[in-house]
Amino acid sequence: MISQKMTDAINDQIKAEYESAYLYLAMSAYLEAKNLKGMAHWMKKQCKEEAEHAEKFMEHLYERGARVVLEAIAKPAVEFGAPLDVFKAVLKHERLVTGRINKLMDLAREEKDYASQSMLTWFVDEQVEEEANADDIVNKFEFLGDSSASTYMLDKELGAR
Ligand code: MG
Repeated sequence: MISQKMTDAINDQIKAEYESAYLYLAMSAYLEAKNLKGMAHWMKKQCKEEAEHAEKFMEHLYERGARVVLEAIAKPAVEFGAPLDVFKAVLKHERLVTGRINKLMDLAREEKDYASQSMLTWFVDEQVEEEANADDIVNKFEFLGDSSASTYMLDKELGAR
């Protein structure tokens, strides 16, 4: 049996995953407006991944016989600055998410909720990957600089995701 406290915390995370999805969708729309279609495509995929994360948390609650409660999600920003700033914001956001996942793991441990710990281990690993991916892109931007040639190249590369 999953505790109400753990259920509430996971429901809160479901909301956070949809907020992440919405943030990346807003970034995708922003990049489309800048005609950076490859980067917009990368963000759209990122958005879909976040929605999958939310579903994974929901599935866990269903399997444990707990109730999923969806909350209102916040309106994302509209403008995100230069492409480098957009990906820096992704990295910053993913670090924030890692902190949230770690807190959920702390709670699962506190409650000796082994099933939630096992489910959360997947997310701990996923966050290592998410941060590494974002960091990698930021490093490439910084290495190549912000000339139109390098922006074109990175847009092409990220479009292949
Ligand atoms: Mg996520």
